[in-house]
Amino acid sequence: MTSPVEMYDTTLRDGSQQVGLDLTVEDKLRVAAALDALGVDVVEGGWPGSNPKDKEFFARASELPWRNAKLAAFGATRRPNRSADGDGDLAVLLEANTPIVTLVGKSWTLHVDEALRTTREENLAMVGDSARFFVREGRRVVFDAEHFFDGYAADAGYALDVLAAAAEAGADTLALCDTNGGTLPDDIVRIVREVVGRFGELRVGVHCHNDSACAVANSLMAVGAGATHVQGAANGYGERCGNADMFAIIAGLELKRDHELLPPGRLGALASTAREIAELANLPFDAKQPYVGSSAFATKAGLHASAIARRPDAYSHVDPAKVGNQAHVLVSELAGRSNVLVKAAELGLDLSSDPGLATAVLEEIKAAEHRGYAFEAADASFELLVRRFAGREPSWFDLEGYRVVIERAGGLAGGPGGSSPLGCTDRSEAIVRLLLGDQRVVAVGEGVGPVHALDQALRKALADLYPQLADIHLVDYKVRILDGRAATSAVTRVMLTSADHKGEWTTVGVSDDIVTASWEALADGISYGLLRAGAQTLVPA
Ligand SMILES: [Zn+2]
Repeated sequence: MTSPVEMYDTTLRDGSQQVGLDLTVEDKLRVAAALDALGVDVVEGGWPGSNPKDKEFFARASELPWRNAKLAAFGATRRPNRSADGDGDLAVLLEANTPIVTLVGKSWTLHVDEALRTTREENLAMVGDSARFFVREGRRVVFDAEHFFDGYAADAGYALDVLAAAAEAGADTLALCDTNGGTLPDDIVRIVREVVGRFGELRVGVHCHNDSACAVANSLMAVGAGATHVQGAANGYGERCGNADMFAIIAGLELKRDHELLPPGRLGALASTAREIAELANLPFDAKQPYVGSSAFATKAGLHASAIARRPDAYSHVDPAKVGNQAHVLVSELAGRSNVLVKAAELGLDLSSDPGLATAVLEEIKAAEHRGYAFEAADASFELLVRRFAGREPSWFDLEGYRVVIERAGGLAGGPGGSSPLGCTDRSEAIVRLLLGDQRVVAVGEGVGPVHALDQALRKALADLYPQLADIHLVDYKVRILDGRAATSAVTRVMLTSADHKGEWTTVGVSDDIVTASWEALADGISYGLLRAGAQTLVPA
């Protein structure tokens, strides 16, 4: 085991700069709890001086049962030509009452001259005074050297003087920030090596951004060059192209470089933590995300599938189970019989003992794909199909019929545009008739479109019998028109993703009518959700 590397998470501060990522204080507390449970060393909670939300977060952070991580509050060095004692922002940072204070300061002469508009000597004093202020208060100080690599390229002597000012004042960690993400791995290695050589008695670290698609590579190379502190954000969240993806850094260093970043046994929680944080952030989870994405260990070709069944390690760079992920075999027209067998086994359905059944399933998949179905992403529909053939599809409801009414009311309000389409209101109503065993149920749903109305009606009809539905919600709905050239024979494919608190699943529906295709995907989505939830079936499988 090589020297320990400190994993410093900045999801709640730098990561939340990402466009579309907006966390409430409750969300932030939940993300912090997830990161602590995973076992990172430091959770940077935010910038208490910058907004009231972060201030409230720190006031409530002591509610959490911190088990592994220490909390850090982030802020800038004191203002020019003031004393640290009289600086209001430093006072707010102190009030956050965290064991770690992370101070960001300028290390690029261009920024000292143009952004701070102060002298280079004064900037060194600002760094030193501010660090000293918190060290005197008994806090551990991490110094974030902003734009360090650009600063080093412009004036290496001055960039190193800034680090020295922080070090002499008692900062115990020097984090070299690639703030604009433009540095490439060879420069990272050269510069980190030099800084480690000069400040070796301190913890030297990096904070990398992904603007050159090198954030994870740079972080790994920095550790190779002697860094013992790495900053990153969950799922690579962050402004512009994002921060370094913390999960890829942890997996790479633990599985390939023998570093210990998480407490023993916690690496297996990586994939579920990544998904949990994406859910809390209400952002779609990237199937292609290294190590933790649902496609990270997926393979398509039928040729490979038979080999994978024999030697799972022959096609994956690591054992997916180590990061809590699993190998997926995609099913497609290309697939051979073995693909179906492997896929079914992955779902807990053993078809190998019945070659006739496997052939029948494969024939059905081929025929369905010819009609426009795609099962590669629609695992849940695939599983339901296999169960149907194996006679093991549980039945939760039977459709007797549905009717959908779409209503558009013209915008008569006399705005300057008259009755423009913008003034219209669309409302749909759906009536769904189901058979639940020997009981007939009719429910009406309303929605902003026909699919929403159908979903509402179906849920209403099933709500009494299946309380588990409350935990199942729609997360994504995609429509594609296939073969649009022949307008009369165009087919609509609907892909629908549903989720519960443990994960998500995708179903597919195909028809020449969009409502029928949507119903099919909806009904499969609800059925699969009930299967996952272990709901009692009306007709036992
Ligand atoms: Zn940053």
